[in-house]
Amino acid sequence: MPSNVDKATSSVQPAVAKVKRIIPPQLVRGMRDILPPEWRWWNFIWQKVEAQARAYSFERLETPVVEKTNLFTRAIGATTDIVEKEMFSFVDQSDDHLSLRPEYTAGLARAYIEHGMLSLPQPVKLYALGPTFRHERPQSGRLRQFWQFDFEIMGEAAAVADSQLIILAAGLFESLQLPVNVQINSVGCPTCRAVYRQQLQDYYRTKRSVMCEECKKRLQRNPLRLLDCKEESCQELKANAPQMVDYLCEICKAHFVRLLEHLDEVELAYQLNPYLVRGLDYYTRTVFELWGQEGSRSALGGGGRYDNLISDLGGQPTPAVGFAAGLERIVSELKGREIEVPAPPAPDLFLASLGEAPRKKALRLFEELRRQGVRVTESFTKDGLKHQLEIANRLGVKFALVLGQKELMDGTIIVRDMENGIQEIVDLKKVVSEVQKRLAAHQSNITRATN
Ligand code: AMP
Repeated sequence: MPSNVDKATSSVQPAVAKVKRIIPPQLVRGMRDILPPEWRWWNFIWQKVEAQARAYSFERLETPVVEKTNLFTRAIGATTDIVEKEMFSFVDQSDDHLSLRPEYTAGLARAYIEHGMLSLPQPVKLYALGPTFRHERPQSGRLRQFWQFDFEIMGEAAAVADSQLIILAAGLFESLQLPVNVQINSVGCPTCRAVYRQQLQDYYRTKRSVMCEECKKRLQRNPLRLLDCKEESCQELKANAPQMVDYLCEICKAHFVRLLEHLDEVELAYQLNPYLVRGLDYYTRTVFELWGQEGSRSALGGGGRYDNLISDLGGQPTPAVGFAAGLERIVSELKGREIEVPAPPAPDLFLASLGEAPRKKALRLFEELRRQGVRVTESFTKDGLKHQLEIANRLGVKFALVLGQKELMDGTIIVRDMENGIQEIVDLKKVVSEVQKRLAAHQSNITRATN
């Protein structure tokens, strides 16, 4: 029989065992943190996007990440993969049906209408850069939150706008040192596409028995997407499928020819891809994609013309053309090709301080140096000169300043050349100009040595 002591201990043990283990929060599946070392690639792309926007006179317009769900349903198309399966949609506290944007164009078209941009001189050239969301199956190159940059030319029907956008996009990749393969097609206008759609359905109806399950559904709902199927058996079928170019009406054909002539004029290499249809319903006429390394499974960017989108959303008829690319895929392409990207500028100067009073003074000196444009860093939370100089060494600064009790009392500071260890005592009041002089001399020595 258990004693009272036994009973007491046995009643304690389960309580100990019940201590709750707190599971740390984790990332949402398919989403990623962008950690500090990653930013040099992102900044590199960002700079090139902004440079290209400036060069071609695009202005930035950022729309909210959240829009009414029916904007995307109407714009992208109710039977597209994005709308049917991939939107992050929710009902908010006010019973509004909202979605995280799966792409930029729909939001920018809404903004164009809502802000009366039709009254501005046309075309209106806009660009944007931010996160987009699609609930896709996470895999290499496919995330659920990914960043896009996006360029749109709204209010221009001429093929020259399509050409310029493709030239801009190809030039952007060139400035990123990424060779891309530009693929182009025309999906016609609603009139000629309806004829083609029928031809495509007639062709595929005879092949139903060898089609994948998904394509059987596409046959009724969205036959153009049959050409996009990645299944091997369906790939074989498309080789003999009718091609849109053979069904383009005269106006669409003339537009396509003009576009290609413009690209030839600037000697931009492209490949005609009769199977390129893209996954969004709003495209008319021109569609294009830019592909990276051979064998990659997904495009770096893509776009096309969408002449009916703005009027379909309730705006005045406004022809337009746009292009978007994903930053994560570009970052991995840059890394894959081992492209050197500029590192953030390293500090030139380290400010070491010893003791409470010198630290206080150093805090002020740090601000002064920073205001004068000196790239200075410090380690105010560390004591001990040795430790601080080790940090300075690791950072690869050219000079370190050392301010201790004695220097503070004398109104001086030590300037240490980190390359040869030579130290000099200088007047604390003149230290900023002294440092600037030495850094300038150091820079001109480097320039002379490299020339
Ligand atoms: P799309 O609007 O589908 O043509 O997408 C334009 C670009 O966005 C693509 O070429 C990719 O670079 C990028 N992108 C699209 N979907 C994803 C995704 N799920 N994950 C990462 N990047 C994506």
